[in-house]
Amino acid sequence: MDSQKQQGSINVTSENIFPIIKKFLYSDHEIFLRELISNAVDATQKLKTLASVGDYTGDLGDLSIRISIDKKKKTLTVSDSGIGMTAKEIEKFINQIAFSGAEEFMKKYKKEANAIIGHFGLGFYSSFMVSDKVEIITKSYKRGKAIKWTCKGDPQYTIEDIDEKARGTDIILHLDKDSQEFAEESKINELLTKYSRFLPIPIVFGKEQEWKDNKHVDTDKDKVINNTEPAWTKKPADLKEEDYTAFYKELYPMSEDPLFNIHLNVDYPFNLTGILYFPKIRNNYEVQKNKIQLYSNQVFVTDSVEGIVPDFLTLLHGVMDSPDIPLNVSRSYLQSDQNVKKISSHITKKVADRLKDLFKNDREQFEQKWDDLKLFINYGMMTEDKFWDKAKDFALLKNKDSKYFTYDEYKKVIKEQQTDKDGNLVYLYANSVDEEYSFIEAATNKGYDVLIMDGQYDLHYLNHLEQKLEKSRFVRVDSDVIEKLIPKEETIEEKLTADQKLQLSPVIKSQVPSESYIVQFEAMSETDKPMVITQAEFMRRMKEMQQFSSGPDMFGGMPDSYNLVVNANHPLVIELASNVDKAVGTELVGVDEKIKPLKEDISSLEKLKDGKKDEEVPQEEKDKLEDLNKKIADLEKERGDILSGFGKDNKVVRQMIDLALLANNMLTGESLSTFVNRSIELLQEKK
Ligand code: ADP
Repeated sequence: MDSQKQQGSINVTSENIFPIIKKFLYSDHEIFLRELISNAVDATQKLKTLASVGDYTGDLGDLSIRISIDKKKKTLTVSDSGIGMTAKEIEKFINQIAFSGAEEFMKKYKKEANAIIGHFGLGFYSSFMVSDKVEIITKSYKRGKAIKWTCKGDPQYTIEDIDEKARGTDIILHLDKDSQEFAEESKINELLTKYSRFLPIPIVFGKEQEWKDNKHVDTDKDKVINNTEPAWTKKPADLKEEDYTAFYKELYPMSEDPLFNIHLNVDYPFNLTGILYFPKIRNNYEVQKNKIQLYSNQVFVTDSVEGIVPDFLTLLHGVMDSPDIPLNVSRSYLQSDQNVKKISSHITKKVADRLKDLFKNDREQFEQKWDDLKLFINYGMMTEDKFWDKAKDFALLKNKDSKYFTYDEYKKVIKEQQTDKDGNLVYLYANSVDEEYSFIEAATNKGYDVLIMDGQYDLHYLNHLEQKLEKSRFVRVDSDVIEKLIPKEETIEEKLTADQKLQLSPVIKSQVPSESYIVQFEAMSETDKPMVITQAEFMRRMKEMQQFSSGPDMFGGMPDSYNLVVNANHPLVIELASNVDKAVGTELVGVDEKIKPLKEDISSLEKLKDGKKDEEVPQEEKDKLEDLNKKIADLEKERGDILSGFGKDNKVVRQMIDLALLANNMLTGESLSTFVNRSIELLQEKK
């Protein structure tokens, strides 16, 4: 090529590329910088490779890539000292743009700039998203002159020889008026941190500063913005625990130290390196997805890895790097990519293996970390069958004494005592030792064990466990009285007679709101509590599950429904029954005597009716029957009133109910204060 300025047309097989770049690539403008720096890194690495095999024997010199801005001229320059390009290469790599099938592709991925750029190798051309003129000044490592290529965002370009220039390439962007922000230091710093912080070649932007005369001033020292050897690129053997933690802090400066890490290092059947961290979660609300960063040869690709890694792993932190992850493609493309799928299942396996190792080699440490790990592991087991298969052998259950068991171990612990009459294993659990203390105590006294389920996903998880573990059921300790928690063949004799229960029922009901309490009698042990409040497992779970879902609130609006279970064998209850009889027995007999003849009348009327069709029964008889029934109903009401009249102000009844509420942490505020006062009164009465 002679030194004359030449002109030519950029060769695009389809339409003019520039309007497309400007129009379709709008949303992701900033990625131009990543593209240019990636090219610079490639060119530099190629040179290093050539030198290492002896194809380049010159001096490599400083290979840093330099980013500079000129605020006055409104230019941004990316300079490298890589292989550069000859005029021929410019012609081949820059002027001839492969652009086949473009229109079809455009239609499909209209909104996704990344996809278009990657698909067509428009890396360099993305600079036209922000510039109205771009210059390439380049000198190849091969012999020949330096050249300058200039293009103003139309298919015409010029190319000319220029005087001396050092080896390498400068890309000079003349920023258009909508893109002036890219001449701002802060903006460039932001982009460099996002896309380039772990690139393998030093990237220089500006100077290191020092504190002098009460202000920050530039020193002579170049400021390198990246860490060229991030931990994941090193061999696990060369890294200590501190190095992993330090790298974690580099990634997430504000976070607490992680629980532990997994160094990924695979060469076959694909290339993958990376470090995943199990973060320490201080509280359940802190769970954050999308902290994993995805790199391709140290170039940042994305930090939204949903669909790329299994859902539960999005809860982990760290980095993954694979040249097999296509850099510039759409999310949907990534998700369906075979390599990505393989990577995803490999990571799942790797995570499971690492956890298994920890469990096997250092169970004590594993147990210490379990409460924090549980969230990830159980979530993974719920959502990935393959992970369940591996994790079921090391996943733990924690009991009320903070002892940990594997599923197999725990089964052995409870098999004897906690198998119900149908052969189902009943796992008892509590959400909180404090709140369900009296129930836990009752279960313990009976020789049962109680698990603690206090995690965010535990409710979901035990649903899952019920499906996975054969013939197994989870029951919260307060969902029934201890005798019925695990139904067994044996039955306990009941001391209260049917008549006594009939009398006691309205007495007790007079003191509880009927819409939220069902009063029932149960033959329990004499040493159990006189009254116990329980809540059916099914209803409670439905209500709790509802709180998680966003669907219509079917149960939340309903009042909580409880059972007030009366111990039909407790001495206090039996005493109460006889007290009722003493106090109102005669009165009740009076009412009963009135009811008796009415009932006899009814049954003789019913006999008359026998075998007759409704229309054959004389109206007179019907009226009489109705009248009798009404009278009985009135008398029964009278009977009920007598009993509730007795019950309503009865301190012993109230005291027993309050004790049951207290055991459930349900006695608060004024009720609690009244209870305390009444207790004192009762003590004084005893004296
Ligand atoms: P891609 O990088 O995807 O191949 P680009 O349009 O970004 O597509 O670049 C096209 C080609 O131009 C590159 O493959 C490379 O050969 C050449 N090139 C781009 N930038 C540089 C550079 N800074 N130094 C040397 N060659 C470069």
